[in-house]
Amino acid sequence: MYYQLEFYPYKRHFKQPLKTSYGIWNIREGIILQLTSETGKTGLGEISPLDWFGSETLQQALDFCHQLPKKITKEIIFSIPDNLPTCKFGFESAWENIQQVKLEEKEQLKSSNFYSALLPEGEAALEILQQLWQEGYRTFKWKIGVSKIQTELEIFEQLVKILPTEVNLRLDANSGLTFDEANQWLEICENINRIEFIEQPLPVDKFQEMLNLSHRYSTPIALDESVANFSKMQKYYQQGWRGIFVIKPAIFGSPSQLRNFCQNHPIDAVFSSVFETKIGRKAALQLATELQPNLLQNRAIGFGVTHWFNEEEETWQENL
Ligand code: MG
Repeated sequence: MYYQLEFYPYKRHFKQPLKTSYGIWNIREGIILQLTSETGKTGLGEISPLDWFGSETLQQALDFCHQLPKKITKEIIFSIPDNLPTCKFGFESAWENIQQVKLEEKEQLKSSNFYSALLPEGEAALEILQQLWQEGYRTFKWKIGVSKIQTELEIFEQLVKILPTEVNLRLDANSGLTFDEANQWLEICENINRIEFIEQPLPVDKFQEMLNLSHRYSTPIALDESVANFSKMQKYYQQGWRGIFVIKPAIFGSPSQLRNFCQNHPIDAVFSSVFETKIGRKAALQLATELQPNLLQNRAIGFGVTHWFNEEEETWQENL
C-alpha cells in the first residue's frame, strides 16, 4: 500500500505574544501533512516543532519532507529516526487518521474543567483568570521565571487571594529558576494547598536537584523540558523519576511507542499542547483521552490554549 504525500507549511499568529523564560513568541509555524491511500482515503497530520525544547527545527522537518518520495509506505512512516520526533508524530498520526476515519469525525466535546487554561505571565493573569473562570475552567497554569522573583511573588500573592476555592493552579518555570529561587517558591507553596505542581523549576541538566526537591517539599514537581521526547522520558523514568511527567504528544515522537509505554508503566502524567493547529490538536487529544485511564492521576489536560488565537481569522486552512 502506498500513500501519496502532500505537505504545506503554515504560520499562525498569537493574539498577544506569549512570554516565557525563553523570551517572546509571536508566530507558531509548522507543517500540515496530507496522506492519500490508494483507495482515496485521506488522513491529515501536523508537524509542529519546538526546537528550543529539544525537537528538530522547522527547517529540519521541511528538509525531511522534501527528500521523501511523493508516494510513501507504512514502513517509511514507522521508521522515521528518533531525532525527528515531531515528524514521527505528524506522519504516524496522519496514517492513523486514515485507519480510523470514523473515530476522527466524531469531534470530542469536553467541558472546560477537563482542560487546564494557560494564563499570560505577569499581572495580566489576574484579569484573564476571572474571565476564564466564568467560562468554566477550574485549572490554570501561570508562567513564572520570566521577571524578577520578587515581582512575581508579589503578583502571586494577589493571584492566590482571588483564586476561587475549587481552583488548581500550576506554576511553570520553563527551566528559569535558580536552585535558591526554586526553594523559595516551594517553601511559599507549602502553605497554599491549591498549587497542583511546579513545572520544570530548573534546567534539564539539574535532574538530581529536581529529584531532591521532589522529595523535600509537599508540592509535586512536574518535568516538562526534561522529558520532551520518548527517549528522554525513558531515561528519567529509569533514573527514578516518579513525579509528574508533562507529555506534549506533538513533539514527543511516535504515538504507538507512547501508547506502549503508558500501558506498561503506571505513571503520573499531564498531557499538554504546543500551540499546534486543530489538526495536531485533534490527534493529540485523541491520544490523551485514550491513555488517560492508564495514568495514576486524573489531571486536567493542558490544552486550554484556544484563547491565545483567533481561529476564525486564520488563513492557513485555505490550502487544504
Ligand atoms: Mg512547561
